[in-house]
Amino acid sequence: MSYAPPLDATALPPPLPRWLQETPRRAPPLTEASAPPPALSFELFPPRAEAQDAAFWACIRRFERLQPAFVSVTYGAGGSTQARTHAVVERIARESSLLPAAHLTCVGATRAEVDAVAHRYWEAGIRHVVALRGDMPGGGQYQPHPGGYAYAADLVAGLKRIADFEISVAAYPETHPEAPGPAADLDNLKRKLDAGATRAITQYFFEAETFLRFLDRVRAAGIAAPIVPGILPITNFAQAVKFSAACGARVPDWLGRLFEGLDDDPETRRMVAAVVATEQVRMLQANGIGAFHFYTLNRPELVSGIAQVLGIRPRAAQPVSGPAGCTG
Ligand SMILES: Cc1cc2nc3c(=O)[nH]c(=O)nc-3n(C[C@H](O)[C@H](O)[C@H](O)COP(=O)(O)OP(=O)(O)OC[C@H]3O[C@@H](n4cnc5c(N)ncnc54)[C@H](O)[C@@H]3O)c2cc1C
Repeated sequence: MSYAPPLDATALPPPLPRWLQETPRRAPPLTEASAPPPALSFELFPPRAEAQDAAFWACIRRFERLQPAFVSVTYGAGGSTQARTHAVVERIARESSLLPAAHLTCVGATRAEVDAVAHRYWEAGIRHVVALRGDMPGGGQYQPHPGGYAYAADLVAGLKRIADFEISVAAYPETHPEAPGPAADLDNLKRKLDAGATRAITQYFFEAETFLRFLDRVRAAGIAAPIVPGILPITNFAQAVKFSAACGARVPDWLGRLFEGLDDDPETRRMVAAVVATEQVRMLQANGIGAFHFYTLNRPELVSGIAQVLGIRPRAAQPVSGPAGCTG
């Protein structure tokens, strides 16, 4: 499927009014449905076992109805997990109307092994790779594989030598936890884009202001590439706190208060998650942002609700079936 609207540099909105120097703009009331629907892309993880394939494909069919710009499929550590990513990406390209992007990491593999995966994707018609360093399986200090690509910027350059891939890379509004500081992290982002990446997708964050301040710094550093905010609708607050501590995303107090008393009420938690994520997106839209990448956790029902409020209408119905979430 085609990008509509395309997420390329020519489609960039005019430069943002600098967040720190002007009065922040608030999201308009919902009754003022004047904003054009945003371009959405979705991150999925591959089914963890063959037994979950059917549920995963029911989920893919629901995501198809929302006609995202692309769907990206995560890449774990370890052979069988990675093989599932390859299989899923290729099947999405073959059997759905979705445009897949394959995540690929540097961890635990030689350059030749990573290159072989990239060649295989290109031959299968996969043109978009999300190029990442990855983390050590089981945690711990990152060690480049001897003979491997050391960092994401090296991987981007390697991919570009293989073929003219469209490449997305990661960006960190709150700074990557291992970076010496925000300026060094921004230099690293610039290296990845200079090496041939097309856009950056950000780590998730919970305050629109966090992203807008970051974007100000990115543009001030002379980076013109699209920076797409990563949005995580959270349904499990305790889990989000744990995960956020590891990846350096600050969890504001107000978010915790919204989930108080809901430990045994997943349905209400989902509704709260949808409201919070929708408001975050609308705040960013009000400040000129037009494309969003959702960390869906394979939950089409949540993302469908958010997309509906954002003005996206599902494609003419094929019957929707299957469980609410896809794979656990
Ligand atoms: C949108 C998105 C998708 C993701 N998908 C996946 C996935 O599918 N699978 C997965 O395992 N992980 C994934 N991650 C997590 C990611 O792998 C981790 O955040 C990882 O720690 C960093 O990856 P990176 O590509 O940003 O690394 P890099 O850009 O290489 O940077 C990593 C760190 O190293 C520093 N650095 C860079 N170059 C050098 C250098 N030459 N010398 C010293 N330090 C340097 C940087 O400043 C930074 O602190 C994803 C993250 C995001 C935001």
